[in-house]
Amino acid sequence: MTATDRGTAPGRARLAEYTTFRIGGDCPELHRCPDAESLLRCVNALRERGVRGYRVVGQGSNLLVADAGLPHPVLRFYDEKVRFERKGDFVRVEGSTPLDAFAAAALERGWGDLSFCSGIPGTVGGAIAGNAGAFGRQIGDLVRSVRLLGLEGDTYRADGERLHFEYRDSRLRRSGEIVLEADLFLPEQDPEEPRRERERILQYRRERHPDWRTTACAGSVFRNVEPGSAVRRRQSAGWFLEQAGMKGAHSGRAKVYERHANIIVAEPGCRAEDVLTLMRRMERAVYDRFEIELQREIRLMGLFETGSREEQQD
Ligand SMILES: Cc1cc2nc3c(=O)[nH]c(=O)nc-3n(C[C@H](O)[C@H](O)[C@H](O)COP(=O)(O)OP(=O)(O)OC[C@H]3O[C@@H](n4cnc5c(N)ncnc54)[C@H](O)[C@@H]3O)c2cc1C
Repeated sequence: MTATDRGTAPGRARLAEYTTFRIGGDCPELHRCPDAESLLRCVNALRERGVRGYRVVGQGSNLLVADAGLPHPVLRFYDEKVRFERKGDFVRVEGSTPLDAFAAAALERGWGDLSFCSGIPGTVGGAIAGNAGAFGRQIGDLVRSVRLLGLEGDTYRADGERLHFEYRDSRLRRSGEIVLEADLFLPEQDPEEPRRERERILQYRRERHPDWRTTACAGSVFRNVEPGSAVRRRQSAGWFLEQAGMKGAHSGRAKVYERHANIIVAEPGCRAEDVLTLMRRMERAVYDRFEIELQREIRLMGLFETGSREEQQD
């Protein structure tokens, strides 16, 4: 039985339509998987066809997909619906659930304090894989356990501590395991202050960041600079980029955002190659000025024309 027979309606797709950068070539099959069960059915159907090299993406808010696209089927594990279930002090949430909508729903009910997730696009699964966070907090600190899809199509649970969360990183970024669902520690608490904090954060983002719904971008291009690398504490990559004169710089149709030097916006007609060229210029500018090597936060997928094999990061 093929994935089509099971009702997932795959077909050739332009990946630009599935990333917030609105960039990226085609993939041979795109499967929409709104929940864990449909994702598992789809993976099993692909495996029955002998297909192993599929890629799973969430909302595509942390991705730069090559202009040439991907040669593999892509499984989009995303749904607008917020799927969760309360279990004592924990909330079990589907990996496909939008993080910001989930944060709003939890705050509404007085469950924990997810205000720091306010305005972060992407799915809960994508957030856990990259240990998303803001304002000194990160989602990994709340993860008690996850249910994972392994490389062999098997599923199993893992405790949060086995995921090795670090700043914007976890073992999942390298292992290729997929977060199907997660149990987050969100005990009941007075929601007043977290709700106010959410409003403050949303206002802060409106003033400083582009709105990804109307402006093509993928959030911070580089991770903040870790302690030990010539500076004593983690420092904003945006500060180094600004000092290196990158605000407003552009390559082709890719441009450094005027209000935030660590964000690239893609103007209409922008190619992935434009973004990658600009990223390299930004890296070089900071290195030349500070001898600091910026680390990329945005994930590259596919093979880039101007790159060597290192640029193939999927
Ligand atoms: C305007 C804007 C602001 C942003 N602000 C922040 C911020 O403040 N803090 C922050 O941390 N990030 C921020 N981001 C980046 C991005 O939103 C996060 O990295 C987000 O968690 C990515 O989730 P996603 O579902 O879009 O993942 P995708 O971009 O679809 O995928 C990213 C990677 O995660 C993997 N992945 C996706 N889903 C899963 C899953 N279920 N299990 C395992 N791996 C998976 C993919 O294979 C890929 O390697 C911002 C982005 C934008 C556009």
